[in-house]
Amino acid sequence: MPGSKHILVIGGGILGLCTAYYAVRKGHRITILERAGGPEHACCSTVNAGMIVPSHFVPLAAPGMVSLGLRMLFNPESPFRIKPRWNRELFDWLWKFWRAANARHVERSASLLRDLHLASRRCYEELADKPGFDFGLVKKGLLMLCKTEHTLYEEAKTAEAARQLGLSAEVLTPEQTARLDPGIRMDIAGAVYFPLDCHLTPQRLMTQLRQYLQSQGVTFHWSTAVVGWQVGVDRIDAVRTEKSELTADEYVIAGGAWSPEIARGLEVRLPLQAGKGYSMTLSRPKQLPTICSILTEARVAVTPMGEALRFGGTMEIVGLDESINQARVNGIIKSIPHYFPDFGPEDFQDEPVWSGLRPCSPDGLPYLGRFSRYSNLSTATGHAMMGLSLGPISGQLMAEVLSGEKPSIDISALSPDRYG
Ligand SMILES: Cc1cc2nc3c(=O)[nH]c(=O)nc-3n(C[C@H](O)[C@H](O)[C@H](O)COP(=O)(O)OP(=O)(O)OC[C@H]3O[C@@H](n4cnc5c(N)ncnc54)[C@H](O)[C@@H]3O)c2cc1C
Repeated sequence: MPGSKHILVIGGGILGLCTAYYAVRKGHRITILERAGGPEHACCSTVNAGMIVPSHFVPLAAPGMVSLGLRMLFNPESPFRIKPRWNRELFDWLWKFWRAANARHVERSASLLRDLHLASRRCYEELADKPGFDFGLVKKGLLMLCKTEHTLYEEAKTAEAARQLGLSAEVLTPEQTARLDPGIRMDIAGAVYFPLDCHLTPQRLMTQLRQYLQSQGVTFHWSTAVVGWQVGVDRIDAVRTEKSELTADEYVIAGGAWSPEIARGLEVRLPLQAGKGYSMTLSRPKQLPTICSILTEARVAVTPMGEALRFGGTMEIVGLDESINQARVNGIIKSIPHYFPDFGPEDFQDEPVWSGLRPCSPDGLPYLGRFSRYSNLSTATGHAMMGLSLGPISGQLMAEVLSGEKPSIDISALSPDRYG
């Protein structure tokens, strides 16, 4: 096919698979290099809460986040933590985060994030209609459940901002909330309902994407960690893995929280911190809501996935450390009965806990597109808590960039050179 390229994608998470999905549809030949040993590996893209969230038009770097982080610093069960350590990259990231956490940045980012989430939602609708895909897409909205009047008041302001952006959002009393999901006992002051949000089952999505890609001739190399690069004057000549060197026309870094490590040795700057989260899935929950929700004060996501119910939360900036911190997990478990009184800690006994490292950029926006330093190197990473939601549109935009086309959404604010 004219213009067809061999594209090497590093990382088999949602961003790697979505980039491959849209690039293969444009006729490119794709090879995916994945450090993990096999297709069923757990990564951030499989353990997440499965929410597609046009409601999340406020980036992580927003006013109030710095003071919130400081207030939670000394509570071992709080949903947010930064592990204090002498690390130049962490200080640099915190400084950039602090500078970005202002109203102007939020205002500038909101319409872009809205457009990206809505476009991605449409991509998911298309994907769900394709033969071979059945990943449990449910288009019933998201409830921000508020325990206190104060939080409800604050969330109502977000609802108003959403409406100004053209997104539907309703402030609900406890009775109105109960009518949306009858049979589910909730103890709340009220909720904000975002009807456009959706949820799905991420493991199924990932498996079906991989199967589709394989059927389209995409090659997967498992147990293949990228460890270095061969660099020419202004282009990448090859990647080095532990086993061999591999060459391609284009190279895409989609290594999630490991992306800066993968890019080491290259003349690019990609400030990124891993934001660790945990999830637990009850296969036979006492009650099964039909609408996904966020326990707003506790920052816990609750998502029905078929007959199962997943709970996910915490954001720990602790480096590339995937270990389970039981105190934080207890924080998630203890918060649940405050909102859903029929659940208790006993429901979670013996349930496995999964951790995932979210790739967090300092300004809360993804890195998408080409690095100017090299003519054939690009990245799709930094999606923090929105990687599942923004996966398909990111993949589509990457495929456009890799094909030399003008991106269908202006992604200049997402340039991976913005801290270069
Ligand atoms: C608890 C929790 C709940 C979440 N809920 C949601 C949600 O509801 N909605 C939403 O939109 N987002 C959610 N997220 C965030 C979302 O999961 C992430 O943004 C997304 O999965 C990031 O995808 P990724 O492909 O960038 O990274 P990953 O999924 O981490 O994939 C990166 C891949 O690169 C591989 N890799 C690393 N180093 C190398 C190397 N050297 N060579 C080769 N391969 C390498 C890794 O093994 C990994 O498979 C949640 C996250 C967590 C933790």
